[in-house]
Amino acid sequence: MPAEIFNAEDFEPPGTSSGLGTWNVRTIIDSSQQERGSRKDLARKSPDACRFRSSSRALFFRRQFFPGTTLTDWNDWRWHLHHRITDINSLSRIIRLSEDESAAVAHLAKPLPMAITPYYASLLDRGNPLQPLRRAVVPVTAEYFHSPGEARDPLGEERNTAVPGLVHRYPDRVLFLVTHFCSTYCRYCTRSRLLGNGSKSAFTVAQWERAIAYIKASPAVRDVLLSGGDPLTLSDEKLQWLLSRLRRIGHVELLRIGTKVPVVLPQRITPALTRMLRRYHPLWMSIHFTHPDELTPEVNQACERLADAGIPLGSQTVLLAGINDNLETMRKLMHGLLKIRVRPYYLYQCDPIAGSAHFKTPVEKGIEIIQGLRGHTTGYAVPTYVIDAPGGGGKIPIFPRAILGRDGDNLLLKNYQGHIYPYPDPRGELAWKGPLNPS
Ligand code: SF4
Repeated sequence: MPAEIFNAEDFEPPGTSSGLGTWNVRTIIDSSQQERGSRKDLARKSPDACRFRSSSRALFFRRQFFPGTTLTDWNDWRWHLHHRITDINSLSRIIRLSEDESAAVAHLAKPLPMAITPYYASLLDRGNPLQPLRRAVVPVTAEYFHSPGEARDPLGEERNTAVPGLVHRYPDRVLFLVTHFCSTYCRYCTRSRLLGNGSKSAFTVAQWERAIAYIKASPAVRDVLLSGGDPLTLSDEKLQWLLSRLRRIGHVELLRIGTKVPVVLPQRITPALTRMLRRYHPLWMSIHFTHPDELTPEVNQACERLADAGIPLGSQTVLLAGINDNLETMRKLMHGLLKIRVRPYYLYQCDPIAGSAHFKTPVEKGIEIIQGLRGHTTGYAVPTYVIDAPGGGGKIPIFPRAILGRDGDNLLLKNYQGHIYPYPDPRGELAWKGPLNPS
């Protein structure tokens, strides 16, 4: 692999800080004419972009806010990275910022920068600051207030870092942080300390080599999760280099990628990418979804391509106040995911990162949602609700209470409707030690 591929600067795609700076509302041109012209070259120059279908909503948005942009560009993931919305001028052209949002974006003092792909911006509600997707990616001043119990590194990942970029907490698996870069930054990100402005240094090939050497020397590690940042913002070449090096390690049975790219930058899931990924099976993918409004035709195509490449897809969702903390929203999301062949995997209680109080829900809200799903819909649609224990205790599953106690040889179990059923368990000693409360 050529050395320049690992140029540290390359981790932040060039030009991303310019946002919409070059866009000028007065330079509106007849984009449909340009589009017709560009379509002729599209299949020849960029067959992947040609094969991607955009929704009418996205096309309308493109004409309105990026009028000189061709369909070829819009369907090219690199174009979206180069045109990320990263400053107040760019953002205020697209949505009407509330006073609070304006203040937060103008004086962005948090390490976590703002960045939104044009595609994801097309899903934002222009006039409603409380729209769930908007709240997930547009900063508000509440981010700057730190509450008791919050921390920069709430999961104690730094304590479990074996070599830079490699977290080894569980016995048989490691978390390999391969980049500090995301195409779109979520305001509730657990790793905000590592991303964008918060990162002390870019990942280098030397660092990757050290992490790979550690994995090679650790025969107990059978599962490697690539995360970051977002690994799918790396070029195909870099990703392939990493996957091929890891695949060569005999004891590594499973490779996984954690990503939000199929949701915020679905154009990235090109046939070339999926052709490359399928060479490294068993390869699994955990996709970060937040709300059913993210389930667009574009996301459907991206997931279809990944699933057709034989990649098992799971979802990860953070429970967020005012965004997805109600049963109806969560049911819609979980049902929608199954329709696009993504198995709901984890529902996370929001980690206590600094400035996250406005996103937090009480734990009983998560239990209530799981209770409303379990038994009421197919089991595949029910994720495991977990709390990632502060300080590095790992994921702890939280279940609605099902064992109510013991009645002689019977265990008393509560079903999804709240009815109690005795289950014969004469040799068992299991009994709920807390108060008996069948309600
Ligand atoms: S995509 Fe993941 S790593 Fe990136 S900002 Fe969102 S939560 Fe954080």
